[in-house]
Amino acid sequence: MDLPFIEPFKIKMVEKIHKSTRNEREKWIKEAGYNLFNLKSDQVIIDLLTDSGTGAMSDRQWGALMTGDESYAGSASFFRLKDAVKDITGFEYVLPTHQGRAAENVLFSALLKEGDIVPGNSHFDTTRGHIEFRKAMPVDCTIDIASDPTAWHPFKGNVDIDKLENVIKRNDVKKIPCIVITITNNKAGGQPVSMANLREVKQVADKYGIPVFFDSARFAENAYFIKIREEGLSDKDMREIISEMFSYADGMTMSSKKDAIVNMGGFIGFRDKELYNKASVYNIMFEGYVTYGGMSGRDMETLATGLYEGTDFSYLESRVRQVEYLGTMMKQKGVPLLEPFGGHAVFIDAGRFLPYVPKEEFVAQTVAIELYIEGGIRASEIGTLMSDRDPETRENRYPKLELVRLAVPRRVYTDNHMEYTAATTARVFERRDSIKRGFRIVHEAPIMRHFTVKLEKL
Ligand SMILES: *Cc1c(COP(=O)(O)O)cnc(C)c1O
Repeated sequence: MDLPFIEPFKIKMVEKIHKSTRNEREKWIKEAGYNLFNLKSDQVIIDLLTDSGTGAMSDRQWGALMTGDESYAGSASFFRLKDAVKDITGFEYVLPTHQGRAAENVLFSALLKEGDIVPGNSHFDTTRGHIEFRKAMPVDCTIDIASDPTAWHPFKGNVDIDKLENVIKRNDVKKIPCIVITITNNKAGGQPVSMANLREVKQVADKYGIPVFFDSARFAENAYFIKIREEGLSDKDMREIISEMFSYADGMTMSSKKDAIVNMGGFIGFRDKELYNKASVYNIMFEGYVTYGGMSGRDMETLATGLYEGTDFSYLESRVRQVEYLGTMMKQKGVPLLEPFGGHAVFIDAGRFLPYVPKEEFVAQTVAIELYIEGGIRASEIGTLMSDRDPETRENRYPKLELVRLAVPRRVYTDNHMEYTAATTARVFERRDSIKRGFRIVHEAPIMRHFTVKLEKL
């Protein structure tokens, strides 16, 4: 018999968790306007709001931090970062940014104008925000099966190539400045995109002369899924798979807070010098000079190191397996989930979890609030609140699925924490029939409202 699977790391430093009571949590969430973003972190027991910037850095990253070169221009740390990006992704030109959305802001400033169309698989919320803010339109060409929460597909994040080609044919190609492919497809539930699909997207894009950009926050998890799920690729090592993936893109935006396991940072990678030059102007304007762009030297050092650690097979195996462990326990307790489980998160299918709550009353948010009250778990809503209003009609957009995302920070929680989370969820699920009403908005911002919305219990 095989020995049990273990994490390929041990723990050198720990952080205290404050264990609150149910009464405290009921009071705190009300004060927070029933918005989980408004909670203080010590009001949370297990924080699964996001896996973004919440990972634990390694001893080597903390060591690298001390070697940061804080020169304004030409920092040695920038060149270490640039070399790491080139080595792993193949992109020659690199602009550091303070995080992923800043990379989008700089890139889209250089690429988009009013009336443009940006097809892709499901655009991440900040990506959509940056596109719509410029009065351009993201078009979701994800395969249909992605909206069936229980259908098995190894690469549910894939682009429907016919949909993509139809969007291009029905529009003026000059109005399509780029295609954005999100790897893994976060909005579809952390679902990977296959190598074959990336290759096909690139073929279609080349046919019409449209550049392809990868929104690459979880590119390493995507590569891990390609290795374990895609026919004919299991013998390749992670680095070969990653190189091939990026060979099908003209550039990338990166939120380093995800697969590069740092707490803050981002970058843009380009193959084309001209576009790099054009974007550099916006980088200087919005982020900082081209060799730091909103990052300190020490942060570029930890990022360069993190890119290597985050693409290591045994690390990725333990990461994805921990998420799967959480999902499997919840599934055994009957909790309706999106399957297959994502690389970074387990998604509860809130529509099936709470069938009595009307969609106008924010079903997924209602589940997320109950998880918090029950066990101090902070998850995030990926449903009607996040889908926001249609920019023209100002009507609520109701997504095909109401999801609650339990995102697992990297190298932070133990499997005991996952067991506690699964047990908390199961308890809410057992009393689901008593939950019949949801929430009403009392305050909202005009764009990306889920971050600041205030709600009232109905
Ligand atoms: C997190 C994320 C972003 C935005 O990055 P930030 O670092 O949070 O600004 C963009 N796209 C995807 C797919 C992401 O996961």
